[in-house]
Amino acid sequence: MSKKAVLKSVEQPADTLIIGAGFGGLGAAIRLQQQGVKNIVILERADDVGGTWRDNNYPGAACDIPSNLYSYSFAQNPDWSRAYSGSREILGYVQHLVQEFGLRPLIRFGSNVASLTFQEEQGLWEVNTDKGEVYTARSVISAAGGLANASFPKITGIESFEGHKIHSARWDHDYDFTGKRVAVIGTGASGVQIIPELVKVAKTVKVFQRTPGWVMPRPDYASPDWSKTLFQKMPAAQTAVRQALFWGHESMALSLIWNTPMTALVERVSRAHLHHQVKDPWLRRQLTPNFRIGCKRVLASSDYYPALQKENCKLITWPIATISPKGIRTAEGIEHQVDCIVFATGFDVCKAGTPFPITGLKGRVLAEEWKGGAQAFKSMNVSGYPNLYFILGPNSGPGHNSALVYMEAQIGYAVQGISTLLKGGYRYLDVMPEVQQRFNRAIQKRLGRTNWNSGCKSWYLTEDGFNATMYPGFATQYARMLQRFDPSHFGRVPV
Ligand code: NAP
Repeated sequence: MSKKAVLKSVEQPADTLIIGAGFGGLGAAIRLQQQGVKNIVILERADDVGGTWRDNNYPGAACDIPSNLYSYSFAQNPDWSRAYSGSREILGYVQHLVQEFGLRPLIRFGSNVASLTFQEEQGLWEVNTDKGEVYTARSVISAAGGLANASFPKITGIESFEGHKIHSARWDHDYDFTGKRVAVIGTGASGVQIIPELVKVAKTVKVFQRTPGWVMPRPDYASPDWSKTLFQKMPAAQTAVRQALFWGHESMALSLIWNTPMTALVERVSRAHLHHQVKDPWLRRQLTPNFRIGCKRVLASSDYYPALQKENCKLITWPIATISPKGIRTAEGIEHQVDCIVFATGFDVCKAGTPFPITGLKGRVLAEEWKGGAQAFKSMNVSGYPNLYFILGPNSGPGHNSALVYMEAQIGYAVQGISTLLKGGYRYLDVMPEVQQRFNRAIQKRLGRTNWNSGCKSWYLTEDGFNATMYPGFATQYARMLQRFDPSHFGRVPV
């Protein structure tokens, strides 16, 4: 039997319930409070804040977007130690947000949401957790994160392996790699950060590559003291740097999202990087991508190729046939015996489902409606599921700019919607189905012309090639689209 949750400092029902205490959820709480919405509760399934930056703490974990851009514009940090900060420092920034904006009393840790159900009569969301707690709220912001659930590949024999298994997003810091024979499966954004660190300590590192990615150099450097002092004394200087970084990344859309003359130019830069760092023609050939740049996420690393050429490192490009008790057997029949397998194999992404069952008006079930591919209006609202906002929802993904720019726009939009509901005396606001359909027809048409849909296989696409992940445009366009919450797009039901 479920029990009503005890909400110490929050009145039931909450004005807004936020799912997830990562960047998105905490940013939303800050902005809501600043707009006078104080009755907020945040449910977090783990025992600490930070989301992806709490979970991804493997050696070498860092952001491939510069820190001055990968942070909130309303909470700039003058003290970033590097151009591209590591995960620990980013987590520190998130913890600082909690402190600075007094968010901790709002957070219920260890509260894993099991279901969301909309009660039409009262205009309330009922939120159940797997501990049997029940919360109610006028609005819900789902900021559960798209890359939250680590994914082990379906390789025959994976359970039979007798050595140690570690996933990049659930790192085992107690395991000592010194002198160990290690295999790494996966050469995506996580793999290229882990491998250079492992070759420093392990006896051998065998890298199992299925698809070589496009790699660009990462111009990392330690922030000089003068810039920290300057940013502390003159925040406008940091804003100017942020703007320059923003527009630099924004211009990359022209090469990464669409196939333009810039695409060929950026491919040339990446090939030159490979040529410069890898002298052996055979290895270079093994590392040369066979798909258009931008189709999968572009990798940023200046130490991945050098690491692959260290004496104790070997790139294996034969497909994996099975995992055996002693190691990995490849298709040509060789068994590579190892002590530990590191899975840098990515995440289970809910492209066609929802992270938990969501029941809307008249018993509609969102996972059913999203079976053929998720869709929402402006990536934020779904018709039939009123007063519910998604952070990093369907078709909101950036391929060329900072996710935080997108999130900031989403948060601003959700705050406007929630304020409209509370101030307008509405029971609920439900986006009109034809508005949502029109929006998605246009989005899918635009996606057809992008590099993501140019033939490669990536986590952006469902099995049958539907792209419910990325936004086919500039970050500027996305932010402009979310600048104003327009109530005329919504069915408005009075109290
Ligand atoms: P990912 O991009 O999905 O890469 C997974 C890797 O595992 C790929 O190389 C994939 O090969 C390989 N793989 C999967 N199943 C396999 C199998 N059965 N056999 C052999 N290889 C297999 O995952 P990720 O590297 O963790 O990155 C996921 C996302 O997280 C990124 O796209 C990015 O959005 C985010 N991320 C960001 C940063 C950052 O710096 N901001 C850092 C890390 C991650 P295929 O390519 O052939 O599928």
